[in-house]
Amino acid sequence: MTKLPTLFISHGSPMLAILDSPARRFLLELGNQLPRPRAIVVVSAHWESSGAPAASFAAQPATIHDFGGFPAALGEIEYPAIGAPEVAAQASRLLEQAGLPVQRSADRGLDHGAWVPLSLMYPDAGIPTMQISLVRGATPAEHYRIGQALAPLRDQGALIIGSGSLTHNLHEVWGNPIDANVPAWVSEFDAWMTTRLLANQRDALFNYRQQAPFAVRNHPTEEHLLPLFVAMGAADADAIAQRIHASYQYGALAMDAYAFN
Ligand code: ZN
Repeated sequence: MTKLPTLFISHGSPMLAILDSPARRFLLELGNQLPRPRAIVVVSAHWESSGAPAASFAAQPATIHDFGGFPAALGEIEYPAIGAPEVAAQASRLLEQAGLPVQRSADRGLDHGAWVPLSLMYPDAGIPTMQISLVRGATPAEHYRIGQALAPLRDQGALIIGSGSLTHNLHEVWGNPIDANVPAWVSEFDAWMTTRLLANQRDALFNYRQQAPFAVRNHPTEEHLLPLFVAMGAADADAIAQRIHASYQYGALAMDAYAFN
């Protein structure tokens, strides 16, 4: 079986689902460029749990419209992928074997961090899909270890996706046009991250908040960057990072995507 890379995807605004942009065109092509996964495991910025990662066992995960103030058309999109309870069971065992407790969710659906990119990558919704949560307050290194525990799922054809945003300060986005100029505090952080990712400098990346320029301004809270560390951890230790997309939206959102092969 072809082992798939792990991915980090920046999902930006929910408008990504319907509004043309370079990042949207990239995602429309991405699914065709990868071998077809047998299952999809998404770790999204929009599901955090306390104390331990949670796994969704939903057989028919609902499409969660977890946003407000957007056009009605966005609230009407359904992404009817079936769930992957067997993958959830296996993921739970793997996490427990790694010494990480797991919370089992019977019915958690797919949040927009999952279904917006998947609706572009796999519009047929034909691949069993499940989510695993972030752990609120856990560090980048701890999220990397969650990814490491999940890595064996790839041997069975699972595609592991971390869905967040390389930069994510929404307070500095409001009112900007989609093609707004990119401020230096965004591009300098993006450049620092890109250099460390391409050089696989994990320790520097784990300490991005202390070391990267403007880290806290780009991530007032960490949840949109933490999925990156899960994707890194689920890749092989000597994986080479490939920057498979780079663009900006609304000035302050870097839409970078990475594959770890
Ligand atoms: Zn988001």
